[in-house]
Amino acid sequence: MASFEQFDLKKPLRNALNDLGFDTPTAIQEQAYSVVLSGKDVLGIAQTGTGKTLAYSLPILTEHKFSKDYFPRTLILVPTRELVIQVVKDLEELTKYMNCRVLGIYGGVNIKRQRVALAEGTDIVIATPGRIYDLALDQSMSLKGIKKLVIDEVDVMLDLGFRYQLSNILELLPERRQNIMFSATMTDHVEALIDHFFVDPKKISIAVSGTPLDNISQARYDVPNFYTKVNLLQSLLVDQDEFKKVLVFTSNKKMADRLFEEMDELHGDETCVIHSNKSQNYRIRSIEEFDEGQNRILISTDIMSRGLDLEKITHVINFDTPAFPENYMHRIGRTGRAEKEGNAILFSTEKEQKWREGIEELMNYKVPVLEMPSEVQISTKLIPEEQPEDAMLKNPDRNMKFEERGASTHEKKDKNQKTNQGGSYKRNIKKKYKKAQTRGDKTYHKRQKRG
Ligand code: ADP
Ligand code: MG
Repeated sequence: MASFEQFDLKKPLRNALNDLGFDTPTAIQEQAYSVVLSGKDVLGIAQTGTGKTLAYSLPILTEHKFSKDYFPRTLILVPTRELVIQVVKDLEELTKYMNCRVLGIYGGVNIKRQRVALAEGTDIVIATPGRIYDLALDQSMSLKGIKKLVIDEVDVMLDLGFRYQLSNILELLPERRQNIMFSATMTDHVEALIDHFFVDPKKISIAVSGTPLDNISQARYDVPNFYTKVNLLQSLLVDQDEFKKVLVFTSNKKMADRLFEEMDELHGDETCVIHSNKSQNYRIRSIEEFDEGQNRILISTDIMSRGLDLEKITHVINFDTPAFPENYMHRIGRTGRAEKEGNAILFSTEKEQKWREGIEELMNYKVPVLEMPSEVQISTKLIPEEQPEDAMLKNPDRNMKFEERGASTHEKKDKNQKTNQGGSYKRNIKKKYKKAQTRGDKTYHKRQKRG
């Protein structure tokens, strides 16, 4: 049986691992340790939730020596601000008994304070590519001392269009350095980046790209449209003992907001939402409230939750079927982390079936289909995107009005017109499980302010 003993870690690091309750390295941690220590360039491919953060942090911290220099010697690049916060937290825990200065740098917050923090001296900087480049350009930060560069979630980084920023930063780094890259999936973009910038990195690969973790149980439903998806989701969520902590994915911001609005009636006091149009503080608070269990349900877009390690998510619900199968892998990787049992549920409309097939092809696994529970009301009401095209032609400004007025007003108005969208069913459940609530974002914001 593998153990951290075999790494011959120094006492401060061993003690920190003890505090975290970790005694056995994961497969990627075991394989990456000596390779990263050797100083060679490394590319590690492993599923989400397999412990990649420690896989690069442990060898880097093993080599860490006390320094009086102001310049950081290790730079860790991650795709999102949320991930910066996460990795900073992980590293702070690991360096609890060490003399090691860890600093997170990301956009959307005051840059002056980050300049001050940098001027006080750091050893390890964890950053998003955009903000670090700004700080390097205006000389607030020197990259000339960087000996190790980690690019975490390279695949996401490239998906998000960070290739240009990455190459800019690479230009500013000293040539003699170690490059360490980690990714959940190996894509053509990742390969192209490596061909272009790195010399023959040693590749460590844990699972075949696209293989789901064994400890995630998957199921799916065929659902005709958005409002029926809402009814189905709400019917599933009634079981609070089973659905303890639920991460719901939608394909874009508009859908996230639209669903959040619909959730308000029954689950308003236990649902939060994150996407890139929300302010940084709002996003951090939403994630915290979900992580700590104050909110049972978090609605998110793909980008936002990439790489986030949230505590014990029981269910990932794919409210939309992602068009890119890789996104499905990332989504379901949020549950069943580090040996814990997880569940993934996929909703697909007729239009989304081809994407579902793509996902199954990538995984080489057919997701078992479940019968729609009989209590779920099938809605005939359609959102603008679901309207047949000839109907849109007959009523060409329908979609435009929707955009102009914004989703929420439109939907409220439709509701007042008593269209069938599962109203009686909702009322019944509501009577059974919950007090009535005010509509809109209000309860949420009130709670946010108090919190
Ligand atoms: P990845 O980056 O591969 O998606 P993370 O590094 O975020 O995964 O780790 C996923 C979760 O597993 C985290 O909660 C982390 O604390 C935990 N973890 C990592 N390594 C171990 C280990 N050796 N033993 C137990 N838990 C671990
Ligand atoms: Mg990670």
